[in-house]
Amino acid sequence: MKIIMLGAPGAGKGTQAQQISAKYDIPQISTGDIFRANIKNNTELGAKAKVYMDAGDLVPDDLVIDLVADRITWDDCKDGYILDGFPRSIPQAEALDEILRSREDKVDYVLDIDVPDENIIHRMGGRRACPNCGATYHIEFNPPKVEGVCDNCGGELILRDDDKPETVKERLTVYHDQTQPLIDYYEKEDILESVDGTKEIDDVFNQIVEILGE
Ligand code: ADP
Ligand code: ADP
Ligand code: ZN
Repeated sequence: MKIIMLGAPGAGKGTQAQQISAKYDIPQISTGDIFRANIKNNTELGAKAKVYMDAGDLVPDDLVIDLVADRITWDDCKDGYILDGFPRSIPQAEALDEILRSREDKVDYVLDIDVPDENIIHRMGGRRACPNCGATYHIEFNPPKVEGVCDNCGGELILRDDDKPETVKERLTVYHDQTQPLIDYYEKEDILESVDGTKEIDDVFNQIVEILGE
């Protein structure tokens, strides 16, 4: 099963992708996590991406497309995968279609997690991320068992630099300009499924299981 997670920054893509990954046993491929790992390891890709990420802008399409094209050929992807945060622009979606078509392959579901902008800023301020394993929490809506510590791996949780309100506003603008048009794009391909992302985390997951099947 191949799934794309769509939605504004903070809509809950990562939170849901983590649960989908556990239930259906397919990997979560988060392009944001891959870039952050590259930044941490001081790679050339990380250095290039950081400039855009700090500003709240998208990393250029060519950098992200090559990375995903390679990642989905890994062995753990043979039964499917969840693309979390990719594609984020029409050129990325077109490139993915082209890559999959050349492999006689296709995406099965595009899950659009719908959350209005008003809810997003509050969510982002309370988000805490594990730089180690990529898990995300919320100080109010999804707290870890021990404050500041990742349930999964014991890593120390952080507030991401780009989750500060000024950067979140820029990311929302970028989302509306460049990513939201993908809703129409996938509606035309007839694989778009909308999910009400304002509900509680478990309710959102239940809506997703309804779509994907048990
Ligand atoms: P969020 O969890 O808020 O949706 P991500 O962790 O997915 O954020 O992404 C963080 C940043 O990484 C983005 O703001 C962007 O700069 C960069 N990024 C991640 N995925 C992509 C992509 N597919 N195309 C371009 N930039 C990306
Ligand atoms: P995205 O990957 O789309 O950027 P995340 O999954 O990281 O979003 O979620 C953003 C923040 O909102 C996190 O702190 C997360 O714990 C919290 N969150 C996710 N889903 C919900 C929800 N349904 N209700 C309230 N808070 C949520
Ligand atoms: Zn962790």
